Amino acid sequence: MLNIILFGPPGAGKGTQSEKLVNHFNLLHISTGDLFRKHKKENTELGKLAQKYMDDGVLVPDEVTIQMVDEEIENAKDKTGIIFDGFPRTVAQAEALDQLLAKRDAPIRKMLALEVSHEVLKQRILERGKTSGRVDDQDEAKIQTRIQEYEDKTLPVANHYEKQGKFESVNGVGEIDAIFDTLVELIETVSA
Ligand code: ADP
Repeated sequence: MLNIILFGPPGAGKGTQSEKLVNHFNLLHISTGDLFRKHKKENTELGKLAQKYMDDGVLVPDEVTIQMVDEEIENAKDKTGIIFDGFPRTVAQAEALDQLLAKRDAPIRKMLALEVSHEVLKQRILERGKTSGRVDDQDEAKIQTRIQEYEDKTLPVANHYEKQGKFESVNGVGEIDAIFDTLVELIETVSA
């Protein structure tokens, strides 16, 4: 299976590129942010639990997040693989994901990291906040909290996959299609 992690800070373009990549390679898109927002909208127990964390810009607890991903992976049956977007966001999540995938004999093949400066991230998120309706996109202090959570808890995940020889960094600033072409080329090197 072609299992890929699209990595990077909030606002790096993971969602935008994932949508294009899932079409190109016939992948299942697992975005934990989108899944939590869906639960919130449907007012499920999980949605209610996640809401308070999301609105403050802090991470939802690992156990809850991992359980949700474990269930979602089952939907990959007719797909070439899975693109993980916004997950794993902690080393504990990465270790759990590796186990979930080992059980299915379908490890992560590559982690592609979109690199974008903090200044550009803040501008992009505030711009998105004008139309996304997301409360966490509209407040500079919450955006700062999310970037800080990323630095403290998520960046070490890059090292986890670097040690496995799977990490690759990509410039996330530029034309959407140009960044997409770079990602496609890198994924083709592991899918061949
Ligand atoms: P962004 O990448 O722009 O911050 P996401 O949609 O990926 O947006 O995430 C929104 C919020 O959902 C996060 O701030 C966090 O509260 C929660 N969340 C998403 N993915 C995870 C995860 N893997 N672990 C814990 N919390 C998560």
